[in-house]
Amino acid sequence: MNPPNNSAFLTLNAGSSSLKVALFSADDDHALVTGQAERIGAEGSLVLKDALGRPLPLAEGSLTNHSDALAMVIATLQQTRPDLDLAAVGHRVVHGGTHYDQPVTITPEVLETLEALSPFAPLHQPHNIAGIRAAQAAFPGVPQVACFDTAFHRGQPFVNDSFALPHRYYQQGVRRYGFHGLSYDYVTGELQRMAPHLFAGRVVIAHLGNGASMCAIHGGHSVASSMGFSVLDGLPMGTRCGNIDPGVLLYMLEQEKLNTAQIRQILYNESGLLGLSGGLSNDMRTLEQADNAESHRAIDYFVFRVQRELGAMAAAMGGVDLLVFCGGIGENSRVVRRRVCERLGWIGIEIDHGRNAESAMVVSSEFSRTTVMVIPTREDLVIARAARAAAGVQKKETA
Ligand code: ADP
Repeated sequence: MNPPNNSAFLTLNAGSSSLKVALFSADDDHALVTGQAERIGAEGSLVLKDALGRPLPLAEGSLTNHSDALAMVIATLQQTRPDLDLAAVGHRVVHGGTHYDQPVTITPEVLETLEALSPFAPLHQPHNIAGIRAAQAAFPGVPQVACFDTAFHRGQPFVNDSFALPHRYYQQGVRRYGFHGLSYDYVTGELQRMAPHLFAGRVVIAHLGNGASMCAIHGGHSVASSMGFSVLDGLPMGTRCGNIDPGVLLYMLEQEKLNTAQIRQILYNESGLLGLSGGLSNDMRTLEQADNAESHRAIDYFVFRVQRELGAMAAAMGGVDLLVFCGGIGENSRVVRRRVCERLGWIGIEIDHGRNAESAMVVSSEFSRTTVMVIPTREDLVIARAARAAAGVQKKETA
């Protein structure tokens, strides 16, 4: 039986010190409430907005940890919508290991499996699990659904799923999992709906945000991704290093005598655009505005690595029919899109500068052999749809 019409779905994306939330109606994909808690701890802040972007008055509460933050979110939602009836809660979970290639309704066994995967994503998985536990305590009996960043890539062939290490590492799960799967899932879904002929071909999606990765998708299936075992691999990011020779890590250990915590800090928080620009900024917009030697160094490197990865992905698929940009940089930075495309004539890409300046949906010229598109991504919608499916609710069809 379908839940009553005032039922809704909550999506949660718990990071190390943040909690992004969205509340969706049962009937359609429109978010009723969106917002996030940031700097959870002593200096936490929470902003929740209604469908028109107006801030909601917050309920009493504190933001000292994830459960307190969730309790404050729930109290605010209940204060704003006294008839709130949650049909399911969807969670973004970074790692589903080799087990999950689809969203899954969380049972005690599933939770145990997710906990066992924490060593593979120690900076993210424990926070995702804390979010699940907090939601289970707040909404007993309401189905909780885990949606994985890794699931989209599970069908990748062995050559893209593995490292050339002793085989026992592959067997114990040291594989190239790939991430940003919810974003790729959303964008391919949009392609299937809007441009089925392109969806059926050889597609590269460049998810360029603070975290950045690229994915080669052939006939709707992920065949290669730039992120591997962890979210450090592939493209340079805001503060993460991207692809690196493992010899550099040995140098840091042996010559600089750094410990693992110090190396982790460098690789995750001091590298990428921030490191390349000599500490100027991890933020692409700030770098574009700075327009100096430091920012040029960072942007040049970023653009070059995106181009290089596209070449690798073309090799993996025997060509490219469509390049899609998404993520904060991919959707908004006309400079990065233009510069990436400028040296891709050999792959059949010709950008239309007017369309690119407007961030139109198609930014390639009519003469371009390979189409280039900009598709704003919506990871929260993928989670909401999975939660809706788990609760057995049909979306209302619009004419
Ligand atoms: P996250 O991975 O944290 O979700 P986002 O997808 O929001 O990150 O992307 C953040 C990045 O997008 C930042 O580097 C930001 O500077 C960049 N960005 C956002 N808007 C613009 C813009 N108009 N021009 C250039 N860069 C932009």
